[in-house]
This record gives sequence, C-alpha cells and structure tokens, in this order.
Amino acid sequence: MSKPVTIVGAGLAGCTLAWQCHLRGVPFLLIEDQPTAAGSLAAAGMLAPVTGKAFNPSWRIDEFYQPAREFYAQVEQVLGTQLWYDYPVVRLFFDTKDRAKFEKKRTSNLEPWIAEVCNEVPNAIADDGAVIWQGSGRVNVADFVRRSRAFFQAHQSYEETSIPSSAKTIIFTTGARGLVDQNPVNLPHRSAKGEILTVKIPGLRQDQIISRGTWIVPTGKHDETFLCGANYDWDDLSNTPTASGRETVESGLTSLTPLPYEVLDHVAGVRPIVRRSEPVMGRSAEGHAYLNGLGSKGTLYAPKAAEYLLEHLLTGDEIPLYLQAM
Ligand SMILES: Cc1cc2nc3c(=O)[nH]c(=O)nc-3n(C[C@H](O)[C@H](O)[C@H](O)COP(=O)(O)OP(=O)(O)OC[C@H]3O[C@@H](n4cnc5c(N)ncnc54)[C@H](O)[C@@H]3O)c2cc1C
Repeated sequence: MSKPVTIVGAGLAGCTLAWQCHLRGVPFLLIEDQPTAAGSLAAAGMLAPVTGKAFNPSWRIDEFYQPAREFYAQVEQVLGTQLWYDYPVVRLFFDTKDRAKFEKKRTSNLEPWIAEVCNEVPNAIADDGAVIWQGSGRVNVADFVRRSRAFFQAHQSYEETSIPSSAKTIIFTTGARGLVDQNPVNLPHRSAKGEILTVKIPGLRQDQIISRGTWIVPTGKHDETFLCGANYDWDDLSNTPTASGRETVESGLTSLTPLPYEVLDHVAGVRPIVRRSEPVMGRSAEGHAYLNGLGSKGTLYAPKAAEYLLEHLLTGDEIPLYLQAM
C-alpha cells in the first residue's frame, strides 16, 4: 500500500522534510533513484549567519537560524551521532577598504554575530586583520544524508526506486537535477557547480573556519584534515571534478594560509539556485508540491522551509508569500 506522502529526492531537502514528517508522526515514503547524484553529498555544510562581501546577515536569519540549530540537535539525539560542529568563522579582510566597509556596517543587527575583531591571525595571510563571526559552524551534510537514508530504510520509509505509480501526494525535493529536468515545474534557475578539496594542513587550527572568498573548514576528525572550496561554474552542471576547478580552489587556499598542504580528495556537486539562496516552494499544475532552491545555504534554510511546507500540506495554510516561486 502506498504511503500518504511520497518525497522524491533524498538530498538535504528531502531528508530534512522526511525528518519533519517523522518527528510529527506523519507517514511518508522517501525515494531516490540515483543515490550518488545528490549535490548534498559534496556540500561543505557551513552555516554562517553572515557571509559575503557586503557584511549583511543572511536573509531572514532571525526566522531560520534557531529552528535550524534545534533541528540538527534533535536529529543528532535520535541518530546518536554528531552532525553539528560549532566553529567560529575567521573572516579575513581583503584590504583596508574592506575593513573600513565592515566598520561602517557594524550596526546593531551585525553586533550579535561578532565575537571579536583582531589584527593578526596565526598561520593565515591576514595583513588587514579579521572579524570573527560567532554562532556559526558546520553540518556534516553528507553524513546527515547517508545516516538519514539508513535510518528511514530501517523504518521502511526509504527506498531506492523511481516514483511508484500508486503515489498520491508527491513532494519533489529534487535539487538541481529537478530544476534542469523541469520536474515538476519549470523554474528559471542559475544552478552552479562547486568543487571541494579535502586537504591535510599540518599546523592549522582545527577549531575554526577561515574564509575570504575561499574557505577552509575543519572536517571534525582532528587529523589535520580540512575541506577547502568552492568555485562557482554555471555552465558545466555535472558532478565531475575538473582540473580547472581544483586549480581555482588551490589558488584560493594559498591566498588564505602560507602553510604547506596535501590534497587527499576532490569532489564536485551542483547547488540548486533559483532566487539567490532563498528556498522556493509551491505546487505544480497537477497539484504536486515542491521545495527547491536551497542554493549555497541549504543548512540554514532547509529545516524551517520543510516545516512550512509540511504545515501547508497538513493544514492547508498558505505558504508564506516570500517562499513562493514567482
Ligand atoms: C560544492 C558545494 C558546496 C556547498 N557548500 C555549502 C555550505 O557550505 N553550506 C550550505 O548551507 N550549503 C552548501 N551547499 C549547498 C547545499 O548543499 C545545497 O543547497 C543542498 O545540498 C541542496 O539539497 P537538495 O536536497 O535540494 O538537492 P540535492 O542534494 O541535489 O538532492 C536532490 C536529490 O533528488 C534526486 N532526484 C532528482 N530527481 C529525481 C527523481 N525524478 N526521482 C528520484 N530522485 C530524484 C537526486 O538524485 C538527488 O539525490 C554546497 C553545495 C555544493 C555543491
């Protein structure tokens, strides 16, 4: 017998929606037909309240941040494993102009996220100092996806199959592949491939993220390994790592630290981008629901976005206007 809700696509979005269903006792079947295709399996999973060159807090941070933190803590408890790693982000200033821009932007909405402003950062190329953001960290997204699939499989709620013909209420969480396939709707998108290196950097602190365009994130294994990325490529939307992608990431890496490094691994994935990194959701003409467009900030936006979508399905409540695809 088919379950009342079929979630199509088991990446970050689909697994998060599955957890929201599970935690509320809503029966569902999560399905995936290409288990290694998810962009989520390549993601670094950083969750940083302030990103980018403009020193602005992320879009609707007050609405999405706390639910995200609570969600990962809840899933960690059920799975009995660590998914969230608390790391401050050491955002190196590009130059004196960049630092002056930060000082000008340093108003009350930025203040809660500032741990410190410093002039020197050990083992980093930081001639003009850095701001250290707090409240930030990393979700091990690949682990979250793999463990969620295994957990739901054990609960007979995950299958590696195509959409069953008996499926009634279908929710598409199909990421960049769904956007390219226009499944279940045709959304204009600017999805972007990104490549990430796993590197060993002896001597670099393993309890913080370093960022200035490129970022270096500890893997959490305490074996001097880090993730380093990521470039943006809007033309090649494959999951294949490339020599030019690696070159771009390595060039960014050497602009952050003078320490020698060794490349251990190289992966690529595609970020589903519709409206910057703002999630979008809605219904197709056939009545199927979808959640997509998590962009470069899936870890921040997926939990609350999935909750809004589930609420809409259960109660008929309107999806907030700012989350609807226009
Ligand atoms: C290199 C890189 C670095 C990133 N870094 C960060 C970061 O630091 N912080 C952050 O928050 N975000 C980051 N992201 C973005 C984040 O990972 C994405 O927003 C998120 O993973 C998207 O998840 P998704 O579930 O929408 O898509 P996906 O992970 O792509 O999952 C979609 C799934 O749907 C499946 N599917 C598609 N069509 C069908 C179908 N017809 N039937 C069955 N299954 C189907 C696909 O096979 C796929 O498994 C990064 C992404 C990349 C690529």
